Amino acid sequence: MGIKLQQVSYAYSMGTPFEKYALFDVDLTIPHGTYQAIIGHTGSGKSTILQHFNGLLKPSKGQVHIGDRVIAAGKKAKELKPVRQKVGIVFQFPEHQLFEETVLKDIMFGPMNFGVSEQEAEQRARELIHLVGLPEDTLNKSPFDLSGGQMRRVAIAGVLAMDPEVIVLDEPTAGLDPRGQKEIMDMFHALHKERGLTTILVTHSMEDAARYADKIAIMHEGRCVLNGTPLEVFADAETLEKYRLELPHIVRFQRKIEKLMNKSLSKICLTEEELAAEVA
Ligand code: ADP
Repeated sequence: MGIKLQQVSYAYSMGTPFEKYALFDVDLTIPHGTYQAIIGHTGSGKSTILQHFNGLLKPSKGQVHIGDRVIAAGKKAKELKPVRQKVGIVFQFPEHQLFEETVLKDIMFGPMNFGVSEQEAEQRARELIHLVGLPEDTLNKSPFDLSGGQMRRVAIAGVLAMDPEVIVLDEPTAGLDPRGQKEIMDMFHALHKERGLTTILVTHSMEDAARYADKIAIMHEGRCVLNGTPLEVFADAETLEKYRLELPHIVRFQRKIEKLMNKSLSKICLTEEELAAEVA
């Protein structure tokens, strides 16, 4: 399932003295099966755009196409339930939303709420607990007896249990240690590759965007100022400078990267070791 924003503007508190536009004429097409990153500084409109991906917010102007549904200003947002099921959002610190007595019940809660049978929901939970890298006996534990990283994985399993066609990740690794961050990002990348899951990553991390995404959109003051492949985005030094965006590895190894850019690189964001191996 793909998502398309056409000329989307959004104002908070529309029609009141506190009216504030957070998005201006955003055009963004995310085709089915794409891994799209959205980057930008705080206040650039990332959270606002994210909430348009499953109808949590309705555009003040323009249209949002989610699969075959259209959400537009003035149009009644009816039947959003199927959209909510198909577009799973992993919000920042999703573990704060855990509440059931056991991990099993927590993972089963979403699908059962959407009419999935108990048997099917339990089967999904048993499969997903492995997928998120936790042992099966975690299912019988209280979510509150787990570590922060484990809780995050349980919360992610809960979103995946809805069997979404699109997954939206809002800074999914915030607060995790570097190893945990890489494991979670690699897991989503594998899901994207193996299941063709359309993946939208909202992040501050230029490195994650460069490493994992097919396309990177840059938000700046409520506008989508650029959307391209990592190579296109990072080759555009002028734009990066204009919007004060830095990619540490690119900056640090600028010359070597430039040399490498003549070759076709599968990844443009490399660790120091990978880069050393490439240029050796
Ligand atoms: P980001 O996620 O990139 O930090 P946001 O989408 O949260 O950006 O914010 C975009 C703009 O909208 C900011 O100027 C912010 O102050 C404003 N904004 C966000 N939420 C609200 C709100 N509930 N009411 C009024 N203004 C808001």
